[in-house]
Amino acid sequence: MSVTKYIFVTGGVTSSLGKGIISSSLAKLLQARGYSVTIQKLDPYINIDPGTLNPYEHGECYVTEDGAETDLDLGHYERFLNVPTSQANNVTTGKIYQSVINKERKGDYLGKTVQIIPHITDEIKYRIKSLGSKYKYDVVITEIGGTVGDIESLPYIEAVRQLKWELGNKNSIVIHLTLVPYLSASKELKTKPTQHSVKLLLENGVQPDILVLRTEKTLSTEIRSKVARFCNVNINSVIESIDASTIYEVPILMQKEKLDIRVLDKLDLDLKQEPKLVQWKIFLEKRKKSHEEIKIGLVGKYIELPDAYKSIIESFVHAGAYNEVVIKLEMIDAEKMSNNTKDKLENFHGIIVAPGFGHRGIEGKIKAVQFARENKIPFLGICLGMQCAVIEFGRNMLNLNDANSTEMHRSTPFPVIDLMEEQKSITDLGGTMRLGSYPCELQENSHALAAYEKKSINERHRHRYEFNNAYLDLYQKNGMVATGINPATNLVEIIELKDHPWFMGVQFHPEYKSTVVNPHPIFSAFTKAAKKHKNK
Ligand code: GLN
Repeated sequence: MSVTKYIFVTGGVTSSLGKGIISSSLAKLLQARGYSVTIQKLDPYINIDPGTLNPYEHGECYVTEDGAETDLDLGHYERFLNVPTSQANNVTTGKIYQSVINKERKGDYLGKTVQIIPHITDEIKYRIKSLGSKYKYDVVITEIGGTVGDIESLPYIEAVRQLKWELGNKNSIVIHLTLVPYLSASKELKTKPTQHSVKLLLENGVQPDILVLRTEKTLSTEIRSKVARFCNVNINSVIESIDASTIYEVPILMQKEKLDIRVLDKLDLDLKQEPKLVQWKIFLEKRKKSHEEIKIGLVGKYIELPDAYKSIIESFVHAGAYNEVVIKLEMIDAEKMSNNTKDKLENFHGIIVAPGFGHRGIEGKIKAVQFARENKIPFLGICLGMQCAVIEFGRNMLNLNDANSTEMHRSTPFPVIDLMEEQKSITDLGGTMRLGSYPCELQENSHALAAYEKKSINERHRHRYEFNNAYLDLYQKNGMVATGINPATNLVEIIELKDHPWFMGVQFHPEYKSTVVNPHPIFSAFTKAAKKHKNK
């Protein structure tokens, strides 16, 4: 029986070096050689999950099929591997402490003093190993959030030290990602920060097996051998990770650097076949070949923070390549939209209204919907964006003055969007929304059915409010129709306008399911409609 092998990915020198992309790229190469791989993220913060975090803290909150609110790196894992992740793929310090404290309250520790070592570290080790054993992966890649030297990540590094010892050399390795800065004044690449961060790891008892060096210039053999000498690794285990034009080039760059071969060698695994990455390369080729520009306006409230809309942005990268166009996605501040809607929006070939919470920016989003509806510009509203479309239609087409969502205006005379029944008794904010995958049935003669080419679909959700079915007849009679309905609860999942070339609001988040190999049908159809609008 084959045993699961474990790869730990740590980071040094600075944050934001792209551990998630390196982990995803390595996983992609191993998958392409025929191994089953999953990636797990350990986040050293005390929140149970990022569900209650402001996007300014950690960017988008990603949602898995089974309804976990997770770090946005899980989005990269899925986009690269095309395999769904789950609750177990994102562990936080909050989750670790919560389960240890719950066990203590139950008396499970039999009178022992509960300590970071061994109790917290045992819980961390359990979360890592159980992912491998439960799902029988050949390889589990565990990405440790934060930077070596942070107080918060110490228990994780300690758990890695213990696991490396317990699992043995051939069953686990550590890949350490660092930065080699280029000093333009002296025209030199500097290795000292890397040396220091490896020393820090060594102080914690962890010897990295492979170093991946982020750099903006090619690394010479001299630099590589210097790093190898100072950090006790073979020169062929010093891997260059040069800045790439797109994250999707990174697997190809890592393959050139033989990262996958080094890893398999160290884990005593067979090379199996050469990773061909056929579909992946077709995607990159199409991307390179595409020149026609399509301008899409994304109306939201985190315009200076693209990470807040990570999955939407990536979905357009996939849909753009698939349709052989270059999508220029421009962020538009919903709060700055008042009587200048025309100036702000008239040059776009398609308009998106983003998901979100709370009343900030809502009136601007509603204005953007009105502009797209009246000027017959392809429109996609996601979650709150769909709700804005419903509010706009109520106010301007059905004479429901001051129609609103009860999220924004509790005592609105026309609550066209209202709190879902099951939400009414909930008081806690964390993990209590309608989360994860739910089925939806598509109606005949709809853009939705034309996009998906099948009647039954499943999409992921993250919301508390919903189309108020008391108004459904009135809306349908007047041209806004429900073209996607949850078969069990009758919740409206998709609305479309009859008298419009392409206008769709979706209560779910299609962006969570778009991958390189499977671009999402809604983003593709919307892109196609925007291209048509441009060329008409
Ligand atoms: N705030 C809205 C709700 O809770 C929309 C949520 C979202 O856009 N994800 O229903």
